[in-house]
Amino acid sequence: MASNDGVRYGEAVKDNMEAVVMTAPETLEIKQVPVPEPLLGEVLVKVESTMICGTDIEIIKGTHVPRWPPQFPAILGHEWAGRIVGMGPHTEGFGLEMGDHVAGTSHAGCGACRMCHIGRYNLCYNYGNTITGHRQYGHTSQGSYAEYVTNNIRALHKMPKEMPFDLGSAVDPAACGLWTAKRAGINAGDTVIVLGSGPIGVFAYESARALGAGRVIVVGGGRRLEIIAEQGTETVSYREGNVVETIKEMTGGLLGNVVLETAGQKASFQWAIDCAGKGSRVALTGIPEEIPDIAWKRVVLEEMDIFGVRANPNCGDEVIRLIQGGQIRIEPYITHRFPLKQYQEAHDIFVARQDGALLMSLSPGK
Ligand SMILES: [Zn+2]
Ligand SMILES: [Zn+2]
Repeated sequence: MASNDGVRYGEAVKDNMEAVVMTAPETLEIKQVPVPEPLLGEVLVKVESTMICGTDIEIIKGTHVPRWPPQFPAILGHEWAGRIVGMGPHTEGFGLEMGDHVAGTSHAGCGACRMCHIGRYNLCYNYGNTITGHRQYGHTSQGSYAEYVTNNIRALHKMPKEMPFDLGSAVDPAACGLWTAKRAGINAGDTVIVLGSGPIGVFAYESARALGAGRVIVVGGGRRLEIIAEQGTETVSYREGNVVETIKEMTGGLLGNVVLETAGQKASFQWAIDCAGKGSRVALTGIPEEIPDIAWKRVVLEEMDIFGVRANPNCGDEVIRLIQGGQIRIEPYITHRFPLKQYQEAHDIFVARQDGALLMSLSPGK
């Protein structure tokens, strides 16, 4: 393809690419669209694997319009891994080279505001203001449901070449689990209660283990919970009996030292506080439509710390090392693999939780 000054390509890149294009709420089309060109500070990446996130399902429903996406047509997807095939101006000297394998992360801060300066770029004051350089890939700008993406080098994590791309495409959700666990501050030997058995619940569990929890109890349901139980942890089905009473019984009345809420339901928000013991830490990353009455008196008198959690700042490199070291497991949770062109089928399976659908790896251009 023709290129602007200062853009280098490592291989022949075609003019058009296959993409899943959202043209209206609930409307997805597989289309050929122009391959984007990398701008200042950006690289062009050939996407090898991309995964479905629960947030994508909500965006597709139209729940977040006009925040996500701000306009149609839009290309979603923010959990992905691929290979650098083009480099825009001002991309040298940042530790990434042509041909490198990289995992994407969705937030690129403006780099100049107070939140970006202190490393909290997930809370960038310039959120959504693309002129400042802020991006949230797959939300406010082009995502990975396509053969190619352009990404700011700030929002990439270098992968070892021997790591399979589908493991790399789980770096973003795994980093959300790690950030949730880190926000709550897990101490060696802690009893950790994870609420939710979806992808973020899985990675909150894996991260709690990696950070030294003594015991992790995952609360969830269905085949997804069975898959987690098969990896060797204690589980509680919310469909059988009273969750809080069961946790009380399992912990000898002490409840959790740490609770990680990932389900984002009214009931699970309630359980987040009710399953938290004295002096406990509670991290919340789900967002329920309806907020329950919380036992605030217990929160005060039992000195609970409550942490909000947004996305996964500064966790991607750590996650890659934890995957490499075997402390965070990905492979057991990849339940489906599809070519990207079968996106609609994959979407429907994910929504129906068919066969415990957890991580679904999609390959563009296949
Ligand atoms: Zn996600
Ligand atoms: Zn900023």
